[in-house]
Order: sequence, then structure tokens, then C-alpha cells
Amino acid sequence: VKQTNMKRFKLALIDIDGTLCKGTKGIPGADLFVERLRKRGIQPVFFTNNSTRTPAEVIKMLKQAGIHGELDEVCTAAEATAEYVRNAFGEGAFVYYIGVSGLEDALRQAGLVPVSPKKESFEEVIVKVKAAVMGLDTDVHYRDLAQFCRVVFSLKSFVLTNPDVRLPVTGGFLPGNGALGAFVERVTGVSPVVIGKPEPSFVEFALQRYNGSADETFVVGDNLLTDIAVANRAGVYSIHVQTGVRVLRSEPDNEAQTLQLPAADETHASLDDLFLD
Ligand SMILES: [Mg+2]
Repeated sequence: VKQTNMKRFKLALIDIDGTLCKGTKGIPGADLFVERLRKRGIQPVFFTNNSTRTPAEVIKMLKQAGIHGELDEVCTAAEATAEYVRNAFGEGAFVYYIGVSGLEDALRQAGLVPVSPKKESFEEVIVKVKAAVMGLDTDVHYRDLAQFCRVVFSLKSFVLTNPDVRLPVTGGFLPGNGALGAFVERVTGVSPVVIGKPEPSFVEFALQRYNGSADETFVVGDNLLTDIAVANRAGVYSIHVQTGVRVLRSEPDNEAQTLQLPAADETHASLDDLFLD
């Protein structure tokens, strides 16, 4: 374990799933870890690729898991996506999207106009829509994907809130947003702009929002390919906890190649081991 001066940190970007929570349950020690950060004057930020929940829904979920958080401490890939879209296409732009409340809310908060394929078809929107954004919707219908693909094909671009291909669940996995994005890419021949871990722009979004500098910030998470990779790529300190995903080599993106896994600056069994002194 490399030793570092942990006193330099002012901002903690904390992964939620597999790090603070497992499903809707808090991982033992996670609540106290967040409190220890606060006592040391380190700003905790709940830093998640999950685009389905609004910040209010994240806070509610954390509360059920015994973890206290404030609304403005939640930083989601949906919010980073919405900011990217506003910068690229301008305030007030109509955005065709697949996703649920977390993404719809983020788009609206950013001053964009979300339009869902559930409400308006390709023919109805194609004259006004400037951007297409895809986030996870576990109830997405073939019909919505079809409309979305036609819009993407016409715009020649789309934005993916996060590239997670598989979402670990008890006893297995569910297809993630990266898998839906691959479907759209396959149909349209258009490669998405990807937001969310491991894209370093997501860390930069957080640093800007919380007034942090890279050398006073760390990322802590359970996934080497997202949490640790994003920290390494953004040049911030990385802490790996072994409470979440384990069989990383089975990630479909890496099956074909024996990729070197990103190395964390520190590895611990859980958050319970951190910032104890
Ligand atoms: Mg995780």
C-alpha cells in the first residue's frame, strides 16, 4: 500500500452501488465513513453513473440505507450529460431521450426540453429535436427504441449517460445502459458521445461543481474499470474497496483482450477501514 498524506483531501467522490449500498441496504460502516469525512472537513459527494434516479430519489435511497446526504451532494451522470448537451446544443434545445425520472429531471434542470418517444414519434419531433440522449429505462419498449434510432440516424449523433454494459445484481447481472447504446449504435452506425465513469469529463464536471482541485480530491469505489479508471484518467487519487463487483474479467468489453486492469492507489476491504485515525 502506497502511503499518502490523507490530510490533503477536501473532496470525496464516492461511488454508491457496491461501495455505500448493496441494493437498497447500506454496506456496514458506510454511514460512519461519510460522517468521518464530514468531521474532517472533507466534502462527500455521491458520485454515480446511475441515471435513473433524481438527486432527491438518491437521497431517499441513501436514507433508507442509513446514510445521511444532502441534495446538493448528489452528482449523477444524468446531470453531467444534461450539462454537456446544454453546452453543445444551447439552452432551450429539444432533446429526444430514452430514460426515466433521473434523466428527464436533469435535462429539465439544465434548461433543456425533454421529449420522450413514448409521447412523440420520429415524424412529430424530427423538425425540432437538436439532440438525442440515452439513459437506462428497464421498461423500454421496442417501439421507443425504433423511434429513437430513427432520430439518431437523422441527427448523426447521440449521447450516452453512462457506458455500463452489465449491472451486477444478486446472483448475476442485468443489461445496462451501455448495452442499449450498443443496440442504437449497431442500428444507426452512429457512435455515441459517452458521459459517466470511466470518462474523465465526469470527474471534471464534479470538480467544477464542488470547486475542487484534482490533487485535493479522491475517488472511492468498488469497480476498477469505472471508479478507479476514471480517477486515474482524471489524475485524482483512487481508493478501491472490495465490497462490490468482483469478477471484472468477465466484463464483455474486455473479454476479447487480456487488458491490464487499472491499478488503484489503495485497496481496502471496505469503507470501514478508511480515515480511522
Ligand atoms: Mg459501484
